[in-house]
Amino acid sequence: MIHETILREQLPEVFGQCDVPEDWRTDFDLVAIPDPEQDVESRTKEPGHPDPFFDALSETISGLRYPVAIEQGAMAQLVTLFGRVPRPGAPITAENDGCPPPPDALAFYLPFHYYPTWWGIYITVDGLLHLTEVFSTMGNHTFPRHHYGLAARFFLYAHEFYHYRIESLATRIEVTHRRPVYIDGFERHYRNTLNYSPTECLEEALANGYAYERLQLKLKNDPAFRDHMQAITLQYIKTSRPPYQRGHAFRTYAARKKGECLWVEDSHHETFPQLKKLKPTIWETGGSFSRGFGDIRSRIQYILPRPSMLKHRINLKP
Ligand SMILES: [Zn+2]
Repeated sequence: MIHETILREQLPEVFGQCDVPEDWRTDFDLVAIPDPEQDVESRTKEPGHPDPFFDALSETISGLRYPVAIEQGAMAQLVTLFGRVPRPGAPITAENDGCPPPPDALAFYLPFHYYPTWWGIYITVDGLLHLTEVFSTMGNHTFPRHHYGLAARFFLYAHEFYHYRIESLATRIEVTHRRPVYIDGFERHYRNTLNYSPTECLEEALANGYAYERLQLKLKNDPAFRDHMQAITLQYIKTSRPPYQRGHAFRTYAARKKGECLWVEDSHHETFPQLKKLKPTIWETGGSFSRGFGDIRSRIQYILPRPSMLKHRINLKP
C-alpha cells in the first residue's frame, strides 16, 4: 500500500513493533479471497465465479452437520502469534459460555500499524464453516448451505473491515498531529473498556452493526434471503457475549454513526487529554473520517492450518 509506505517513511514513530517468527507460515496455508464484496448477492453461482477456493469448499459446506468443531489448537496458535495483547480485531479464542463464537474468534484483522508484511483480513476456514452452520441452524436450514456460507464469509469480512476503517481514521489524525494515535490512545481506550467495562467497548459492537447493515444492503436484490438473513444475523448478534452483543443497537446507519462519533471522541480524548473534550457530534462535521485509508483488496485471505483435515479434500493451489 503506497500510503502506508509514505507514512512509514515520514512518520516512523506512529508504528508499533510486533515480532512474528519468520517461519509462522510453515504451520498455515493462506489463500487469497479475490473480492468478498462481489459475489455475496449471487445465490446462484454464475460461470466464472470469482472465488475458486470457496467453490472447492462447497462440497464440504453442503455436507456440514452441526456442531462443527473449530480447530482450537490452531486458533490458540494464532492467538499466541497475533493476539497476546488485546487489540481491535486481534484473534481471540471461543469460550465455552453457551454463546456463539464472535467474529474475532473465527476471523481477525492485523493492523498495518503493527504488521508491515502481514497486515490485512484473515478468515479462518474452520471459523467460516462454523458460522455457516450456526447461520444455517438458526435459519432452520431453509436455504442451501452454500448461501449461508457466502453470507457468513461476508459478515466476517465486513466485521474485520470495520476495524480497518477505525485504523484509517486514527491514521488521518496522525497525519495532522504528527505523533502516535492508533497505537497510543485509540488502543488504550479499546483495552481499558474491554477490561473494565466490556459493554462500553463500542468498536466490537459497531463492527457487528456494520457487518449486519452491509450484508442487508448486499442482499437488497434478493428480498427473501435478505429478510431471512436479517433475522439470523440479529439473533447471532443478540446471543453473542459482550461487547459483541451490543451490535444490535448499532444496526442502522444513524445509530452507528452516533455510536462511532462517541467511540472516536472518547478515543481521541484518551490520546489528547490536554485538548478540550467536545460533543461527539463534532465528528459528523468532516464527512466520512473512517473511510478506508488505502486499498485492502489484495490483503483479504483464508487461513487454515497445514495439518487440517480439509486439506485432503480441497485441492490447494498457492
Ligand atoms: Zn472485532
